[in-house]
Amino acid sequence: MKDEWIPANHPRADSLRIREALTRFHEDSIIVPSGLIAHGRGEAFDYLLGEVTIDEAKKALKVAAAAFLLAANPVISVNGNFAALCARDVVRLASLSRASVEINLFHRSASRERKIAAHMRRAGATTVLGVGKDASASLLETLSNRRRVDPRGLLKADTVLLALEDGDRTRALRKMDKLVIAVDLNPLSRTAQEASITIVDNVIRVMPLLCEEIKKLRSTTREDLVELLRSYDNRTNLSKCLDFISSRLKKLAKTDEVSEGSLPEEGLARISI
Ligand code: ATP
Ligand code: MG
Repeated sequence: MKDEWIPANHPRADSLRIREALTRFHEDSIIVPSGLIAHGRGEAFDYLLGEVTIDEAKKALKVAAAAFLLAANPVISVNGNFAALCARDVVRLASLSRASVEINLFHRSASRERKIAAHMRRAGATTVLGVGKDASASLLETLSNRRRVDPRGLLKADTVLLALEDGDRTRALRKMDKLVIAVDLNPLSRTAQEASITIVDNVIRVMPLLCEEIKKLRSTTREDLVELLRSYDNRTNLSKCLDFISSRLKKLAKTDEVSEGSLPEEGLARISI
């Protein structure tokens, strides 16, 4: 199915276009079937958030930008979904923050690693870590293939950005004393709960905002950046995200907004995958 089947005025047109793109990435083996399902889980939470960047996400984003600017060895950990959704912005963020880009897959195979690395290079990445024998080091207490990391990247990183990541590996990175910035639409996932800074938002919206925030904070003193990090509490921020969702749902339940804008309208049945 091609994008032209999607009416421009469809209430979920963007989301449908993204699905179409992801199915093509799946055909190219960059995304595995469980990656498509993980995307669906995210979509459900995005629906609850109203598909916008909420204030709590903006706050976490600012602190994440400060963390990037303070980092000695920042690494952007890229899996199939992250590469498919945000390759160009990953490259932009890496160059703005002098971060390394490492391929880090839950479903690791040599051919997928190579395909995702090639996709990142097409988007402008010069160096892509974590491919093949380069991923020769291990994460603590993580099983088999899922624990492999690059000694030049994730192993020595002090700050790691990840998105659509699995809870076990997020926990392993935290146990290795890394500052973990997670982008996760679900404030209840283990990744969201375990990360040092959780940005509860769609990674597609987050990446350009994070680049802008880094540019804005560039001239901020080190002391002020440290203070931004010190005064941030991830638990409180996650609670506020849950409060936002719950208040929004209560408000929607009381009004007729639900039938006006929050449900897919006719057309979706024809287009849905
Ligand atoms: P965990 O393993 O952390 O407990 P999980 O098992 O519930 O999480 P996974 O499939 O392991 O979920 O990870 C995918 C996560 O990515 C989900 O929490 C999902 O909400 C989130 N997600 C999906 N799409 C996006 C997106 N576009 N932007 C941000 N987060 C997303
Ligand atoms: Mg999981």
